[in-house]
Amino acid sequence: ASTLHPPPNRLPGAIRRTRLKRRGMPLRSVRGTIPRPLAAFTRHPPPPILIITYLPTTPKPIRNAQFGDNHPNLEALEAVIADATAQGCEKWVCMGDVVGYNANPGECLERVRAMDIPVVKGNHDEDASGDHSLESMNPIAAEALEWTRRQLSDEQREWLRKLRMVRQVEAFTVVHSTLDQPQSWNYVTNKFDAMSNFSYQFTNVCFHGHTHVPRVFVRSARVKEIPADSVQVEEGMKYFNNVGSVGQPRDGDWRASSVIYDIDSRTGIFRRLEYDLDTAQKKILAARLPEGLAARIAEGR
Ligand code: ZN
Repeated sequence: ASTLHPPPNRLPGAIRRTRLKRRGMPLRSVRGTIPRPLAAFTRHPPPPILIITYLPTTPKPIRNAQFGDNHPNLEALEAVIADATAQGCEKWVCMGDVVGYNANPGECLERVRAMDIPVVKGNHDEDASGDHSLESMNPIAAEALEWTRRQLSDEQREWLRKLRMVRQVEAFTVVHSTLDQPQSWNYVTNKFDAMSNFSYQFTNVCFHGHTHVPRVFVRSARVKEIPADSVQVEEGMKYFNNVGSVGQPRDGDWRASSVIYDIDSRTGIFRRLEYDLDTAQKKILAARLPEGLAARIAEGR
């Protein structure tokens, strides 16, 4: 073991001192820099050396998956989750309408709940979790909601009831319909509808759903609509983004809709995803839900 002891004249400090002396540098200036524990080297083996290297790292962009209006289409929901996972999404937000219309309310509710993510309340979540009359509703939606109420447990309905109307997530806001009157379930179909929302939007970016049509409204000096494909958020502007619908799109495209928002580069990417439509339709018919609900998901209306 004695071979491990560095001989006194080979001590790193001693070597350094000799070199500095040779270069004609004053020894005085070095003395203070020789670490005190070095003296122990003459009696004990040197302690193990731990090297910590700090490599410069580029921060990984945080990708946030925005999806909503699932309308318990489990096949479409799984397709959206798989896509966002493959795209590197680490965070998730749900725009509501977890239930209503389609055949897997309990399964989709549990799937979303298990993700433990921010979810805002949709009008179908409200109607499915309440006991109020649905007579004023369109008869097909009402029939599906009556059926949905029977499928959910009291505990699941309680979970829906407790969902919040508006959430702030990171630096953006999330709502099912609009920020000006979230409980009124207003539809935003043009820039004039969007204007009233912007008066209550205090973040640059807000995501919502409800119309089942992907859309982007921007407010700078005035409000305009821009294509919902890839949206780069610019400084000083406000963006009101409809993420479309996972389970029942209504823009003529049957594929499930969602948005991936890259928080660092402030870019929103609108996604359309194919899923097992056949299975989703068969389940609607097997549940004896209105047949029109099976037809419409194939047509995207
Ligand atoms: Zn909806």
